[in-house]
Amino acid sequence: MRKALLLVAGFALLSTTFSSAQSRPIRGFPDDAIAAHRQREEQFRKIPDSARLKEYMEAMAGEPHVAGQPSSKNVADYALAKFKSFGLDAKLEEFEAMMPWPIETTVELIAPEKYALRVKEPVLPEDPDSGDQTPLYNAYSGDGNVTGEVVYVNYGMPADYEKLKELGVDVKGRIVIARYGAGWRGIKPKVAYEHGAIGCLIYSDPRDDGYYAGDVYPGGPYRPEFGAQRGSVMDMPIHAGDPLTPGWGSEAGGKKNRIEDSQTILKIPVLPISYGDATPILRQLKGKVVPNEWKGALPFTYHVGPGPAQVHMNLRFEWKNRPLYNVVARIPGTTRPDEWIIFGNHHDAWVSGADDPISGASSLMETARGLAELLKTGWRPSRTIILALWDGEEWGLLGSTEWAEKHDAELKQKAAVYINTDGTGKGWLNAGGSHGLQQFMGEAAKDVMDPRTGKPIFDEARRRAVLAETEDNKKAAEADPSLRIAPLGSGSDFTPFLQHLTLSALSVGFGGESPGGVYHSAYDTIKWYQTYSDTDYSYGRTLSQLTGTLILRLADAPVLPFQYSDTADTLLRYVVELEKLAAEKKDSKVDMKPVRAAVEALKAAGQNFEKAYASVGKADSQVLLAKKELQQLNKLLLTSEQKLGNSDGLPRRDWFKHQIYAPGFYTGYGVKTMPQIREGLEEGRFTEAQGGVRTVAAAVNALAAQVSEAARTLDAAVR
Ligand SMILES: [Zn+2]
Repeated sequence: MRKALLLVAGFALLSTTFSSAQSRPIRGFPDDAIAAHRQREEQFRKIPDSARLKEYMEAMAGEPHVAGQPSSKNVADYALAKFKSFGLDAKLEEFEAMMPWPIETTVELIAPEKYALRVKEPVLPEDPDSGDQTPLYNAYSGDGNVTGEVVYVNYGMPADYEKLKELGVDVKGRIVIARYGAGWRGIKPKVAYEHGAIGCLIYSDPRDDGYYAGDVYPGGPYRPEFGAQRGSVMDMPIHAGDPLTPGWGSEAGGKKNRIEDSQTILKIPVLPISYGDATPILRQLKGKVVPNEWKGALPFTYHVGPGPAQVHMNLRFEWKNRPLYNVVARIPGTTRPDEWIIFGNHHDAWVSGADDPISGASSLMETARGLAELLKTGWRPSRTIILALWDGEEWGLLGSTEWAEKHDAELKQKAAVYINTDGTGKGWLNAGGSHGLQQFMGEAAKDVMDPRTGKPIFDEARRRAVLAETEDNKKAAEADPSLRIAPLGSGSDFTPFLQHLTLSALSVGFGGESPGGVYHSAYDTIKWYQTYSDTDYSYGRTLSQLTGTLILRLADAPVLPFQYSDTADTLLRYVVELEKLAAEKKDSKVDMKPVRAAVEALKAAGQNFEKAYASVGKADSQVLLAKKELQQLNKLLLTSEQKLGNSDGLPRRDWFKHQIYAPGFYTGYGVKTMPQIREGLEEGRFTEAQGGVRTVAAAVNALAAQVSEAARTLDAAVR
């Protein structure tokens, strides 16, 4: 019975999707413009080619190409030549940043026995690309020559130090060893330093991405014994970009702060090591046995210490400004050249970086070629399209941040949306970003097909997004037909655009079925990617189809496709969470009413906007395009996200202006929504949280006012 019903329903669904795909509305387009636009999109989506993605990857990930070194310029030059060969107008935009390069990275266990750590990832005979590596180090570690007893601090997050206190263990004057995971790596040495530690080792425990997870490379995808994870430990929750030029573009000869005054360079030495190198140290720790949840998968009992293991670390870096090469291609808009759609992915890697970032960079290049092919057919976008491959992302979003800071005034005037991708794999679509673009994102995901199932990528993305919801929100998410996009924290190049300039942003990529295990190691190679990730580049191709679809719609929609009811609904969920959190904190007195009222005002404004928007479908495109109100409307929509920013920024980190989305001060990548209120409540700074209530309410009210004005303007445009 059940089966038969399903079959009938399935058949009905099939026939409706088939006939409705052509006529289904596209946000921002009058009905009379949809058929021609869909035809162009379909033409575009046929262009991306897996064989070319493979070709780009093999050219760009064949050698290590860390930022600041000549090899990074080689990759930039290759991409530049490719853009030009497609027929695009492209150039290098050069910046520079303080980028320390390791001169010495010596670590030795000196008691109770001696062991000199290898601090090197060996070449595997099965994969010659795994050789010729970048040194193992954490960018923006401090210099330091220190000796001390060792303490095991689990993941090294704030909660772990509370546990240590219970256990009666102090890290002051000692060297901590933390395992990777549970939060961004940069938080670990920062918190260790705040607790008085003099050095920090971060190792990859096999429980998290080594043999406990599965077979290790090359027999499987996971991290081998001497594989380690490089990465930046810059204090990025304070600001991204060059540590010496917070807030302005860093160029040769330009104004710079002194290194000693930098807020984002670590004060203590920190080094990433493999579990092969961590084993002799951890094995020599005594003291209490660690709590159960602190146990890794190494074959001995884990102890907290302190000691008797003693370690000597000597880390020295050459502190030097080094060049950054962003590759920027520009397709000028015809009728609205001063409204920009920007799409970026970084090109620099820690080593070969086949997965991170070349899988994403290759996909961007194929999107670029697709757009160039459309140009050859005579198409010209209404809005300007900018395609960028950023340098220095791995160090702290350097290339994108310096570019965004240099062009800040113009971007605030002109940038409508920034789209970001980074390393991409196989599985399902992950989408995050500004909630004003949620409906737009969902629509596009219905028109791009999963290469395995042939069904819209929307379906699995939505199913997974519901699964990822908190228990409180799951039921409602299931009942909600939309694809709920995630709020963005940090960890890729959207941060300077979204959180510093407060521009609308989207971040997309495929994953979920690609194993971890070689992240930021010498084993993130072409061979690894072609064996264990998106082996036939079919999802890379799908990502090009998706980003191209997003760009074509954003570039040509007469009305920019923002929608504010989704923003209001999402903000209301944050309000409910924070009301609950405030109620749990007995003496907080934080009163969320002003924020709730502002969100209600935004909801009402958003509904008015939707009422006016209902006439867009029936509007005559040519008539609409000639209306002077349309120009004003798009300007209001383009600058709407900026209303959620505040020029004072967040407490203790004024570079972060967005009042709704920020990376957590103590999570690093993980998002904190309405951060001033949420972190104030979580960390017991209630006055600050109450101050956050005022700034968030003011920001949301300002957005509501702008949306109301947009509704009136739209009404006039379609009348
Ligand atoms: Zn990346």
